[in-house]
Amino acid sequence: MIRVYKNYDLKKNSYSHLSAKVKYYIETDEIKVITGIIKTEKNYLIVGNMSKLLFAFKSKDITIIHYTNEEIKLKNNILIVHSGVSLKKLAYFAIRNSLEGFEKISTIPGELGGSIKNNASFLNQGINDLLLFLVVIDSFGNKKIILKSELEISYRNINNLDKFFIYQALFKVKKKTRFFLYFEKKKALEYRLKHQPHIHSFGSTFKNYKQLKAYEIINKFIPFKEYYGVKISLMHANFIQISPFLDYLNIVKLIERIQELVYNKLSFYLETEIRIIY
Ligand SMILES: Cc1cc2nc3c(=O)[nH]c(=O)nc-3n(C[C@H](O)[C@H](O)[C@H](O)COP(=O)(O)OP(=O)(O)OC[C@H]3O[C@@H](n4cnc5c(N)ncnc54)[C@H](O)[C@@H]3O)c2cc1C
Repeated sequence: MIRVYKNYDLKKNSYSHLSAKVKYYIETDEIKVITGIIKTEKNYLIVGNMSKLLFAFKSKDITIIHYTNEEIKLKNNILIVHSGVSLKKLAYFAIRNSLEGFEKISTIPGELGGSIKNNASFLNQGINDLLLFLVVIDSFGNKKIILKSELEISYRNINNLDKFFIYQALFKVKKKTRFFLYFEKKKALEYRLKHQPHIHSFGSTFKNYKQLKAYEIINKFIPFKEYYGVKISLMHANFIQISPFLDYLNIVKLIERIQELVYNKLSFYLETEIRIIY
């Protein structure tokens, strides 16, 4: 399957549903299509659910590629997962097969490729914890294996994956009772509902630091709760409220204004967890 859309507004597919027009939006579940695009296109971006992407443009000459293959296979104790699988579906599969390791992160609204790249985690469970290796496509269209030990895994990022398309991930899994896994999943969901605002957002806007959490810095040093019509959550200052018809550019203005104020007061650059595509 391949679907190609020209002059496309990403709001139809992105998690935020905000407007950003691109030259091409391509959806496919076929690896040979992805390889072909990577080999020929210069200006492209691979996306998953776009839950952590903010597009700082109204219109851009770029090709957006979304791999939609949702296949999961279990061979003995090895789980083989295509990067188009959502964490929700992965956790559902794992729990149904009594496999531990994905139950808490099921509440993260991303797909496998984006979650691996962002090194997503929740309540001490990370998507890369059980990873053995990745099958990737490099910028020349070649398939390669990258072992976990070769990855530069850091907080909310894998630093040396920028030039690769993540095709599949292989995890080593262990059994656990379904009862326990359901219970852990329920607890994780309850924790999220209790501690995070019930608004449409990109999740955490800024990275947290050992000494200070981003929301503490914002509460202490930012004198406003709204900027260019974009609201900071009153419950948790590291969350920005997404509402319909909001302009991506105004969210960028809010983020950069916070960075400017924090830098000028603390000589410290507050990095975003959200990836801004300029
Ligand atoms: C409400 C909310 C709550 C969240 N809670 C958490 C949380 O608790 N913990 C946490 O860690 N994160 C959290 N996130 C962040 C986010 O959901 C994760 O980082 C997520 O898993 C990203 O997946 P995605 O499919 O949306 O990726 P995208 O946003 O589409 O992409 C993220 C990055 O990965 C790259 N990418 C995507 N697919 C591929 C691929 N196949 N190959 C190579 N590169 C690829 C993109 O180019 C981009 O750089 C939250 C987000 C929201 C909106």
